[in-house]
Amino acid sequence: MRSFAMAVVLGSLSCAPRQAGVPQGWIDVTATLDPARTPVYEGDAPMKFDFLKDMRKGDMLTLSVYSLGAHSGTHVDAPMHFVANGAPIDQVTLNLLIGTARVIDIPDSVGTIDAAELNKHDWKSAQRVLFRTRSTLRGWMDSPKFHRDFAYIAPDAAQLLADAGVLLVGVDYISAEQFGAPAPRTHQILLGRGIPIVEGLDLRPVQAGDYDVIVLPLKVAGHEGAPARAILRKRTGNHRSVTP
Ligand SMILES: [Zn+2]
Repeated sequence: MRSFAMAVVLGSLSCAPRQAGVPQGWIDVTATLDPARTPVYEGDAPMKFDFLKDMRKGDMLTLSVYSLGAHSGTHVDAPMHFVANGAPIDQVTLNLLIGTARVIDIPDSVGTIDAAELNKHDWKSAQRVLFRTRSTLRGWMDSPKFHRDFAYIAPDAAQLLADAGVLLVGVDYISAEQFGAPAPRTHQILLGRGIPIVEGLDLRPVQAGDYDVIVLPLKVAGHEGAPARAILRKRTGNHRSVTP
């Protein structure tokens, strides 16, 4: 107990002064993969998690198998998803997925993040942009029901982000594209510029502001997307930036 108390004291000494309401350290913004909790995009493959052997049932070991779509839960779309000959997920450079990011709050009433909505916010100096929308406010990445009316990025906003040289775009529901969009223009614009899209973030633990981000998709050879772990750390000015 004594060494634990010492560690706590040392830990508090080495941290920046606590700001009320701002969590310190890395924050998990990954949706939990669980068929009882995780939404699946309408028409996509169901998630199946089975135990082949289970020590809780008397087996000598526990061994399980998963079957799930590549775009399950928090995941990254690689260019290959909508670009002919685009890079697969195992070739997306980590430089895009690790670095500084700005979380932008989109009000619950806004379903379309178009250029006009985007320009209401301070986004232009951000290297990576993550949208915190009604999906986060309503806890939709932690609910098995699929909602069609998630907030999406309209093509004109995607164009602004791409033209500004943004390195990564993130959204807090399973797709960045309008449900039922006549053409996948938002995906084509971003992925066509080599900008990966992280979808299905659960941004409930964070507020708007500047963060360090790390998004690490599974390294699946030759596929167009993969589930990822995503974490954020509030930028206080006292941390060195993360670089891959
Ligand atoms: Zn996707």
